[in-house]
Amino acid sequence: MSAPARPSEPQFIPVSTLVRTSVCPVRVYLERHEGIVEPPEYTIAKQVGYHLGSLALSDTPSVAESETVLSIGSPQDPAGHSDPLVEGIWEEIRIVRPDIDDSMKEYLERCIAACRGLAWEEPVAADVACANRKYGISGRIDWMFGRRPALGILRATRAPTYGVWKQDRIRAAAYLLAAEEMDQLKNGGETFPSEVRIAYIPSGIVRTVAPTASDRRRLLAALRKAEAIYRGETPQAPPDAPCDRCPKQDICTRGARDPQTLFDRFFRKK
Ligand code: SF4
Repeated sequence: MSAPARPSEPQFIPVSTLVRTSVCPVRVYLERHEGIVEPPEYTIAKQVGYHLGSLALSDTPSVAESETVLSIGSPQDPAGHSDPLVEGIWEEIRIVRPDIDDSMKEYLERCIAACRGLAWEEPVAADVACANRKYGISGRIDWMFGRRPALGILRATRAPTYGVWKQDRIRAAAYLLAAEEMDQLKNGGETFPSEVRIAYIPSGIVRTVAPTASDRRRLLAALRKAEAIYRGETPQAPPDAPCDRCPKQDICTRGARDPQTLFDRFFRKK
């Protein structure tokens, strides 16, 4: 397998861009000059991620596996006292994102309720930057663990009923490729890790995924498309592009499912 052609300027493509490209390269192209704003759900899930060790030791059992997290209320004790862990993490979140809306505190409470009592292994490192120079991919691994699966990533979405989401399979494959040149993972000649732990914070569930050859093929296809976008080429939309829920529908001709004709542009009702 040969390395895809690199742009003339050395440029690393973030894992998040590769995942977005695998969904729809046209959207990545249309958003290429826009700053990516971190969703508040991610900010909250990320901050909860730093406290999973404390939550694992929490007396209150996890509600995660019962899948009743959405029906629970504020995690206050019967006397109405607020939870110091919720308050402490919320304070941190307010420092990280001073503009966060107060209504998001409920999302934090749900995440904390879901993760209480979670079986959690303490990582040996968090937020580890990695880059694969050969393939020009970079990323930041949420956790590294002392035993396999050594890589852990965090998601601010709920877990699917079984396994992991399709996009998370590509994400896992991309992180494994981005981490390939990390010395600490070249464990005395042992085979390189092939699995990734994925923590779905709103569900309080950690799942392990081993990307398949098909996942890696889709990753390489996304890498080639992302490189073409970086070179200024206009991508084609995939047949299964999720146009129905795309915020770029208004400016994307493919959002209307077919390229716009002159008739569409001047006579068809919007
Ligand atoms: S409308 Fe469809 S094709 Fe256009 S950017 Fe969005 S998902 Fe992609």
